[in-house]
Amino acid sequence: MNSSLVRPVGRRNFLSRTLAGGAYLLWSGPLPATPECRETEDNDEGPFYKKGAPDRETLLEGSIAGTRLSLKGRVMTTACAPLAGAVLDVWQADDNGKYDNSGFTLRGRFHADKSGVYRIETIVPKHYRIGGEHMYRPAHIHLKISASGCPMLTTQLYFQGDPYNKVDSLFRPSLVLSPREVDSRRKAAEFDFILKQA
Ligand code: FE
Repeated sequence: MNSSLVRPVGRRNFLSRTLAGGAYLLWSGPLPATPECRETEDNDEGPFYKKGAPDRETLLEGSIAGTRLSLKGRVMTTACAPLAGAVLDVWQADDNGKYDNSGFTLRGRFHADKSGVYRIETIVPKHYRIGGEHMYRPAHIHLKISASGCPMLTTQLYFQGDPYNKVDSLFRPSLVLSPREVDSRRKAAEFDFILKQA
């Protein structure tokens, strides 16, 4: 989840409210956090989007190469309300940094459930060259997210630790995934998408 979106309630306010109410509560644990749903930053569509990707449960087809990535999270409004049935149109490069521009490999539309929860099974994409010898884009996943009542969000997700993040003009720290290792061939990450309402 976007831990940066979670802000602790002030301890002093909590204690003064508690004492004013006459309750003598000794609070020793962490205070409950107030959820804050900040709009997800948009990011360029780039040149490789293709309309008409099929609805999918997974992008893992056949013996596709690469480290497996389970990506999950919620699609919500800036009021932290779930966006039931949001559609996530996903496209990404493969394990060699190549897009499938003739078919729909590593392209698909995923549907969030009635709680706004989505799950995408894919692979970790590779960075790719965009020009001269030293011009690369860091590994990233493209998404277009649509939900009723919200303008479509076009954005990209990046990967913590990619050496090209710091030289990429589109890279945004708020769009970074921090996948954890499930085993030597699989990673898992969470990301919540927050859409403003029209
Ligand atoms: Fe791209």
